[in-house]
Amino acid sequence: MPHRLPALIADPPPAEGRLWLSNARLFEGTGSATRQGVCVLVEGGRIARVVEASEPPPEGALVVDLDGRTILPGLVDAHAHVGGSFDRPTPLKGAEALLPGTTAHHAAAELREVVRMGITTVRDVGSVGDVVVEARQAMRYGAFPGPRLLTCGRIVSPTGPGGRFFRGMYREADGSDDVRRAVREQLRYGADFVKVMTTGARTVELEDPDPPQLTREELAALVDESHRMGYRVCAHCEGLAGTELAIVEGVDTIEHGMYLNQRPDMLERMAANDQVLVPTLSFLLGLAASPTWTPLLLELGRHNVEQARLTLAAAREGGVRLAMGYDSSPLRSAGNELLAMIEFGLTPHEALVAATAGGAYALGLEDEIGTVEAGKLADLVVVDGDPLASPEILCDRARIWLVVRLGTPVAGTALERTPVAPA
Ligand SMILES: [Zn+2]
Repeated sequence: MPHRLPALIADPPPAEGRLWLSNARLFEGTGSATRQGVCVLVEGGRIARVVEASEPPPEGALVVDLDGRTILPGLVDAHAHVGGSFDRPTPLKGAEALLPGTTAHHAAAELREVVRMGITTVRDVGSVGDVVVEARQAMRYGAFPGPRLLTCGRIVSPTGPGGRFFRGMYREADGSDDVRRAVREQLRYGADFVKVMTTGARTVELEDPDPPQLTREELAALVDESHRMGYRVCAHCEGLAGTELAIVEGVDTIEHGMYLNQRPDMLERMAANDQVLVPTLSFLLGLAASPTWTPLLLELGRHNVEQARLTLAAAREGGVRLAMGYDSSPLRSAGNELLAMIEFGLTPHEALVAATAGGAYALGLEDEIGTVEAGKLADLVVVDGDPLASPEILCDRARIWLVVRLGTPVAGTALERTPVAPA
């Protein structure tokens, strides 16, 4: 039996019946042009057939006429912090402090909204506590509909200031044996992949994001242990020295990587080795626009936005695989990253591929999700209008008409008696 990620094991049971989605405009996610008049047959939670002609629906199928609306693969947010501070309200002075279980309810409410917006898979790249694994267990047993959740457990990081700033989010590890043990601890926990802080973070003024934080031996041990056990490695990368180390040592996804425009040879190497870049533009833009950061970090943040703009163009030119990662809150608004990628130079088609097939590849799930093709899991979104002509509709709750998870219609205006605008 092939290795299966915990997130797939935790998927809720697929729909048993047949679903016939007819009269659709199709964005397949494979790179081919959009097609009209398509019908999609879903059977047992998977896409059984994609047909062009308007043939009669198969017997016993639930027929849904899409009336020319666009069907596309469910979106993938490849860089999220589900259990971070994002989902927690801050009580006013004098109000009762949050009770221990309250956070989980807020996380569940947010995850419902995530799937409501057509985001059917989320990769959690570092969170505090157990809210991610708890939420996915609850979804497995039908507590509420939400996206498939992949998690790294704790981020593996060498001992450093970040461990103090992001208390509870890191597993600090030093020396090859300890790093290997840290990887094993995450797999023991139910992680789907391993995340490493190859460089310091731009959000911690005590960290220098330039030099690699780990030695080559430590990173090599981390990658070896992860790959040996069948897991992918995701690396936080800012400065070029650390980014180069991550690329050379064979990590699978480079997060941020905003200075790579200065190293076309490294972009070439990423393209040749199918290493994925997750540019997280929204976070960079948000930081640069927020006076809540220290002046030093704000200045660096503004510089990083311009670097990221050059890097996205260079990565696109160099044929580097891209995935959409929002790295911001609220999680439901991840479609904003799609718009940012377009603003920074991708065509809407390229950005949509990054948000679907690109994300699936980044997560190692390219055989299961990311395109609308026979055999794939039926995680689908139907939107009112053409997202290639008007990509902003993917951020408009009223235009998300139907979301299907594993063959089951779970959200969308089609299921709501009175469509309501977001509050
Ligand atoms: Zn992040």
